[in-house]
Amino acid sequence: MGELELLPDEVRLVILDRDGTIVEGAAEGHYLIDPADVRLLPWAAPAIARWNRDGRRVAVATNQRCVALGLCTRERVDEVNARVSALLAEQDAHIDEWYVCAHGIEECECRKPLPGLLLRAMADAGVGPESAVMIGDSAADGGAADAAGIAWLHVSA
Ligand SMILES: [Mg+2]
Ligand SMILES: [Zn+2]
Repeated sequence: MGELELLPDEVRLVILDRDGTIVEGAAEGHYLIDPADVRLLPWAAPAIARWNRDGRRVAVATNQRCVALGLCTRERVDEVNARVSALLAEQDAHIDEWYVCAHGIEECECRKPLPGLLLRAMADAGVGPESAVMIGDSAADGGAADAAGIAWLHVSA
């Protein structure tokens, strides 16, 4: 994510996917539901710390259907997110807000590629589409960005 640290000045809100973008994703068909399994991807903390220093707001928008599937509780998702935050903090990086879709497919307006999480992040930040960017590793991230009318950057681990 090295070059991504240098975003255009007009970007005031960076919305990040979690699994496969900030942290190592679980194997196909599995979910990251144990805080002990959280592993940061190497570019994440330096990039986020840079955006923090630039005064940009940094949010995470993550699909966690594991809750709808009964594989874990919503509280467990928060525990995993807290572990991500703790590891980021070791490198002076900070997530300003977490946005989680815990729903199943076609149960809500927020499961990416629907734009609900991104629109909430933009509303909370008080920024329009020209001032936000989505960064993620999957087509669902791109779809959500397109639906929200914002630019997106594709990263791959
Ligand atoms: Mg992902
Ligand atoms: Zn949802």
